Amino acid sequence: MPSFLAEQTSIWYQENARDLPWRHEGVSAWAILISEVMLQQTPVSRVLPIWQEWIERWPSPADLAAEPAGVAIRAWGRLGYPRRAMRLHECAAAIAERHGGEVPDELDKLLALPGIGDYTARAVLTFAYGQRHPVVDTNVRRVVARVRHGVEDRAIALAEVAELLPLERPKAALASAALMELGAVVCTARGPRCGVCPVAAECKWKQLGSPAPEKPYRRPQSYAGTDRQVRGLLLAVLRESSEPVPRHRLDLVWPDKVQLQRALGSLIADGLVKAQSPDVFLLPDSTLAQ
Ligand code: SF4
Repeated sequence: MPSFLAEQTSIWYQENARDLPWRHEGVSAWAILISEVMLQQTPVSRVLPIWQEWIERWPSPADLAAEPAGVAIRAWGRLGYPRRAMRLHECAAAIAERHGGEVPDELDKLLALPGIGDYTARAVLTFAYGQRHPVVDTNVRRVVARVRHGVEDRAIALAEVAELLPLERPKAALASAALMELGAVVCTARGPRCGVCPVAAECKWKQLGSPAPEKPYRRPQSYAGTDRQVRGLLLAVLRESSEPVPRHRLDLVWPDKVQLQRALGSLIADGLVKAQSPDVFLLPDSTLAQ
C-alpha cells in the first residue's frame, strides 16, 4: 500500500508541479542526466537557459564527447562549480565508449560513470526510465525528517524512502518527483508553507509545534571574497577570450596576488585551465592549444 505521504504528495504534484522542460514527455535520458548534474548546486532559473543550449548543441553523449573539454567549460557559463562541466564531458565520453552512446539503465553501470553518484544515478533511472528507486536529495530528506520524525533534518536511509514508495514503477517514479517538488517549493528549509501543504494533517513536525532545530542553521558561506569567486572571475576571462590569455590580463581581476595565484593554481590542478607557458593560460581546448 502506498504511504499517505507518497499518495497525497503525488496527487498534489499532478495539480501543482512546476512546468520544467526536463520533465516533459520524450526528453532523452541524456538530457535528464544533464539537468540532474546542473541542478545539484545551481537554482532552476539559472539552469534553464544553459540546459536548453546544451541539449540543442549536444543532443547525444557522443556529440559532447566529440568536443574538447574546454568547449564544455566555456558553455558552462556562470553555473558555478565548473568541475561539473568537465565531469559531464568525461561522462559523455564514457557513455559513448562503453555503452554505444546510450545512457545505461542499470544502477551499477550508471554508478561506474565519471561524476555520477548515488543521487544522480537513481534520479536518472527514476525520471528517465521510470524505475522504482529511492531518490534522496536534501529536499526529500527534509520532508521525510519533518513528516515522519518530527525534526528539521536527519540522515534518512534509502531503505526508509524506498518503503514509502508505491510498488508500481510509474507511481513510484511519480511519488519520487512529487516528494522532491514538495521539498523544493512548499516544505522549504527556512519558510515551510504548512498552510498549503498536502500532508500537513500527518506531519509530525507540525504536530509538535514546528520545533526549532537542535543546532542553529549554519549561515551559507558568503561568496564574496572567497577563492571560489576568484576562480569564477579568472574562468570568465578565459571563457570570453578566443585566444590564450597573458598573465597580466588575469592579474587585473583580483587585487590580492597571493589569493589570485592560489585560485589559478587550483584551476590548473583541477584541469579546468592549462598553462601554455608560465605566463600564458587557456581553457583545455585543443583547438586553442595548437
Ligand atoms: S506540514 Fe509543513 S513541515 Fe510538514 S511537510 Fe508540510 S510544509 Fe513541511
